[in-house]
Amino acid sequence: MRSAPTLSVVVPIYNEEAVLPSFAERLRPVLDGLGESYEVVAVDDGSRDATPLMLTAMRRSWPQLRVIRLSRNCGHQGALTAGLHRAYGEYVASIDADLQDPPEALASMLRLAQAESLDIVYGVRTDRTTDTVFKRWTAGAYYRLMRRVVGRNVPSQAGDFRLLSRATVDVLRQLPENRPVYRLLVPWTGLPSGEITYVREKRAAGESKYPLSKMIRLALDSITGFTASPLRLATWLGLAGMLVCVLLAVFTIITYLNDSAVHGWASSILITVFLGAVQLLCLGLLGEYVARIYVSAQGRPNYFVGYDSAAETGIDDRPA
Ligand code: UDP
Ligand code: MG
Repeated sequence: MRSAPTLSVVVPIYNEEAVLPSFAERLRPVLDGLGESYEVVAVDDGSRDATPLMLTAMRRSWPQLRVIRLSRNCGHQGALTAGLHRAYGEYVASIDADLQDPPEALASMLRLAQAESLDIVYGVRTDRTTDTVFKRWTAGAYYRLMRRVVGRNVPSQAGDFRLLSRATVDVLRQLPENRPVYRLLVPWTGLPSGEITYVREKRAAGESKYPLSKMIRLALDSITGFTASPLRLATWLGLAGMLVCVLLAVFTIITYLNDSAVHGWASSILITVFLGAVQLLCLGLLGEYVARIYVSAQGRPNYFVGYDSAAETGIDDRPA
């Protein structure tokens, strides 16, 4: 068996025939120059163009290149999952194939992780002026929302260009997640992290494989993967409805007593508002139970041990 390389580079690739040769040309010298053992895990996400042929050809002259081909298009996060699960390295980096993330930064990420014993090094984009206004605006709103939902340690403007230690990858591999969103799950582990900054370049060739539908899917997976609040919305609406109902009841009874209302108006209004509020409340209660099922179905562990003194002292202080 071959020993584990120091660095694995996972590359999700979907219909990238236009950019693949220049990507490989720029990536290889960086990795060869590291002076460390490495592997490139190219995950072909069910491409329908010449990508598979190109990868097979590249493999002939590049022994460190491994190719994993998914049977169909599973999406960017699906391809990343396949790569993370099958990478062997002590450190595992992920990078897009379109040269928007500079391969040269991989060397700095690895050095920083090694020098400061970090588990996570994020690539943070300092300048996104090459992206469209729409992309920048939606990305800004997405990161603001996710920092509120997941927590402050979600770095804004860090996508899927990052480096993880073996320990982090093993934590992520344990998650029984159906639709993982790594840019949120990684900071959620809370493991020691650092960052390097880079300028987001223009896509070198080809066009974005992230149409609006995929962006919406990612946003929905991000929200439903981290919060059950939308399910609880009905509870709050129901409670608000109840309050309105009480106020209306007072008002209707006063008009009824003053005899200034049309006959039957008071009872119709009261019944309508009351039933509406009761329905919302019941929906909300259902939501609460669905939320519990949802959280237990996710089956995420409640804690990760970052440091355990027993590992240093050799004393096993686990309860018997
Ligand atoms: N990608 C993938 N499967 C998909 C969509 C994209 O593997 O269904 C890959 C794509 O080939 C690229 C990376 O994910 O290497 C990021 O995609 P893209 O550059 O199109 O996204 P953008 O930069 O426009 O957000
Ligand atoms: Mg891109």
